[in-house]
Formats: sequence, structure tokens, C-alpha cells
Amino acid sequence: MFKMKFSETIVDFQEILDSMPRPIGLVPTMGFLHEGHLALIRKAVRENKTVVTSIFVNPSQFSQGEDFKEYPRDIDSDLKLLASEGVDVVFAPSIEEMYPNGFDTYINVGNVSMKLEGEHRLNHFDGVATIVCKLFNISNPDKAYFGKKDAQQCAVIEKLNADLNLGVKIELVETVRDKDGLALSSRNVHLTKAERLSALSINQALFSAVSVWRSGIKSSNHLVNVVREILERDTMLDIDYVSIVDPKTFNILETVVDGSMICTAVHVGQIRLIDNAIFHK
Ligand code: AMP
Repeated sequence: MFKMKFSETIVDFQEILDSMPRPIGLVPTMGFLHEGHLALIRKAVRENKTVVTSIFVNPSQFSQGEDFKEYPRDIDSDLKLLASEGVDVVFAPSIEEMYPNGFDTYINVGNVSMKLEGEHRLNHFDGVATIVCKLFNISNPDKAYFGKKDAQQCAVIEKLNADLNLGVKIELVETVRDKDGLALSSRNVHLTKAERLSALSINQALFSAVSVWRSGIKSSNHLVNVVREILERDTMLDIDYVSIVDPKTFNILETVVDGSMICTAVHVGQIRLIDNAIFHK
């Protein structure tokens, strides 16, 4: 009978992986899994002989004052879900295993990591790039799966993978939303009913900008203001940024073209949410 393997140490994990058939697909997560994560995992299961999921709430990608301690965790429920999806190996290391005493090397992915999230979350992408690079080195996967909800993270990882010749095929997966449009996020569990209702404006505002663009308005300023005006109507919402960018470089655009991306980060009470939409005809 199929039995999912579970490992908390690098040595043990690598020993398990040595005997597993290729291609190997890696799905890095911070746990508290939802349908968004499962979309990545299902694609990985379809496309690989071996699927590995890592569960690690990575302290180095949280800035000071952020919600590292409060980040939701439920390993037992995660393991049940992963087993039912046919994941072969779960790697769930401790902080000490990934960052032993004296750890002192961090990866900085240049330009693409400086703006938007990078500006508002100090060193966030250094933490992301470092942990992803470590996970790639430890598991040596053929493919790795990431969600487009974290669009800038996708761009940072693609750049990291290319610049450092990591040789992993990066697969990106569309954002999974609740029926009402809210992008699924582990953090949504902390929203009160009222906050969740307010959070719905985020997706609605982004898609309003897309439909205004479709009506012929190409000015980035104008379209950003469409979003800002909708979000600012709700006193529960506090905007970090609304920006229109090239989705590969994250350079800010003045004129919006087919394929440009609008990204936002918004505080809803204590919770910070991000979302994005692509301008498409
Ligand atoms: P996290 O556990 O939040 O670090 O997410 C792990 C992976 O799942 C990342 O690649 C995320 O982009 C992806 N992910 C998170 N939420 C969603 C979602 N709603 N739809 C698709 N992918 C997602």
C-alpha cells in the first residue's frame, strides 16, 4: 500500500529521495494548506514520478514586526491532505536544521526584488531566494511549482534560477480563489467576518481596473487610481501599494499594455493581503 514518507532532517530526506524515481517535482510551502497549495500539488502529481512537498515557515522571509509567530500552522491536517493527494515525500525541517548556528549566507536577487513587496517588506526576498535555493540544492528537483498569487516571488525565483544556473524547470500555477473572488491565503483564517467582507474589494478593484483598461484607458496613473478609489472607500482597508508592472522585471509601467500586471498589498485589520491581475483583452 502507498505510504507517504516524512522527514525532518536533510540527511534522512536525501536518503529517501535517492531511491525515488525521476522526474522529481518540488512544491515548497509554509503549510496550513488550502486549495491554492493543492492546485500546485495536483499539477506536480500529474507531471512527475515523485512529488515532494516541503513545509517550513521560513523565518528569514519575515521582516521584524511581521506575523512569523502568529503564522497559522497545522502539520497534522497538512499531512492528511498531502497523503490524500498522493504526495510521496514531505520534508518538514526545524529552523535549526535549515539555519544552524553560524548560518551566514543570503542571496540577493537584484532589481526585481527591490520594488513593491521588496520595498515594503525589508529583506523579504533575500529570505525567499535563500530558502528556495537551499531547497533546490537539498532536493535537486527536476521541476518546482509556485503560485501566481505571489507574482513577484515567481519573478524573483525565475531570475534566481536563471542567474545561478540552478537548472530547475519552474512551473507557475494560476491563483485559486474562493467563490466570491478572494484569493486563497493561509492568512485568511485570521480575518474576522467583517474583514473578510472588506477584503473582497481587493479583487473587485483590480478587476475594475482591467475592465476600465479594456474600455480604452491605457494610462497607468489613471488605472491605479481606479483601484485606490475603490479601496479607499472602505476604512477597514489600508493600502501599502497599488502598482502596474512588467510581470518579469517588476519595472513600473506608465502605459498599460496587454500582459501588464496590476499588483496590490493591503492591510485588512492586522492581516496583510496581496493580490494581482493581468491586463488581457
Ligand atoms: P505559502 O505556503 O503561502 O508560502 O505558499 C506556497 C505556494 O503556494 C507558493 O508558491 C504560493 O504562491 C502558492 N499559493 C498560495 N496561495 C495560492 C493561491 N491562492 N493560488 C495558487 N497558489 C497559491
